[in-house]
Amino acid sequence: MTVDLDKLPRSAVVPRVKRVRELIIGEGLDGLLVTRLVNIRYLTGFTGSAGLLLVTPDEMLFVSDGRYGEQAAQQLAAAEIEARIEIAGVGQREILQKAATGLKRLGFEASGVTWAQHRAFDRDWFPEVELVATEEMIEGLRRVKDPGEIARVRAACSIADEALTDVRDSLREGVSEQDFALELEMAMRTRGASGMSFDPIVAAGENGAKPHARPSGRRFAQGDLVVLDFGCVVDGYCSDMTRTVAIGTLDQTKRRMYEVVLASQEAGRAAVRAGASCADIDRACREIIDEAGWGDSFTHGTGHGVGLEIHEAPRVAGTGGDSLLVGDIVTVEPGVYLSDIGGVRIEDTVVVTLDGCDVLTESTKSLLTNTLRSKTPRLKTPPPKTPPLKEEPA
Ligand code: ZN
Ligand code: ZN
Repeated sequence: MTVDLDKLPRSAVVPRVKRVRELIIGEGLDGLLVTRLVNIRYLTGFTGSAGLLLVTPDEMLFVSDGRYGEQAAQQLAAAEIEARIEIAGVGQREILQKAATGLKRLGFEASGVTWAQHRAFDRDWFPEVELVATEEMIEGLRRVKDPGEIARVRAACSIADEALTDVRDSLREGVSEQDFALELEMAMRTRGASGMSFDPIVAAGENGAKPHARPSGRRFAQGDLVVLDFGCVVDGYCSDMTRTVAIGTLDQTKRRMYEVVLASQEAGRAAVRAGASCADIDRACREIIDEAGWGDSFTHGTGHGVGLEIHEAPRVAGTGGDSLLVGDIVTVEPGVYLSDIGGVRIEDTVVVTLDGCDVLTESTKSLLTNTLRSKTPRLKTPPPKTPPLKEEPA
């Protein structure tokens, strides 16, 4: 498929600004200085690489530099955002200073400014204003996706699905991780992705034991498990999927790893519904891997939110205190990683619904299962264990 953005439903941006204003007032602030570009995009439609946004209960000021005058005017107008747009180089400070005159408490995004920026804001930009650190204000709003956003993530997932089909003939002995990653990326771009959600992970054999391995010159060999974790971007929105495939025939341990992770992923996905706690989803996945004796080898959280960013709220982990909401888009991605043997991870991106979820990543999980399906009995002896690796999944 190629993506025709005009055919996808549009997101209403204006109501987001209204909700931010309610939060500003609710937090006892007189305004919020938005510095994270992804949040500026969410509130204005602006996609450039430089900008500052001041939101007060009754005004919005967008400041950028000379590269973005025309683009800002066009994109804010397209989003029906009424904001004063000021384009300046060194004069940005004076413009914002003037706009903040009379404000007592100005929120800033704690995770979006450096120590040096905060110092400059505090001393030079807004010396008369009390700066108040805020956390996850807009990120919290971004959690639940509207139909326009879901359509974009869905389109990005479909491109990834189709790209994998395009290149599956290269899942054979002798092809290197790097070459396969390049083919996969090319296939996604050819099908209309504007970029990658992250650099694709292609990890064959022992490299698969590292959840975040980078593609190397390692060539696929008979008996390898190959972890493929990848996604692309459509109109700013990310997709994320992992499939693990077999090259040739797998030995008993690897076959069992695959079966266990597949059962774990299915259990996790089956537990997803509005109201379920993130910790419960994590537990559903972890129980099955624990029972198989590989609990210590499932070394990362079960999943994460996906949207304008590849990792966003909510965190689907044992320590994730959130419950799922209708319209959350999250991943379910358990894995088992055994040193010297390899790894298996299976990941879907799903939209949370009232009574379950809508799975956006549709690639088969029986990819090359002709080699995974075998009459060999399951292992009776306990499987090998490895010390935990502390890494986050993609
Ligand atoms: Zn992921
Ligand atoms: Zn992933």
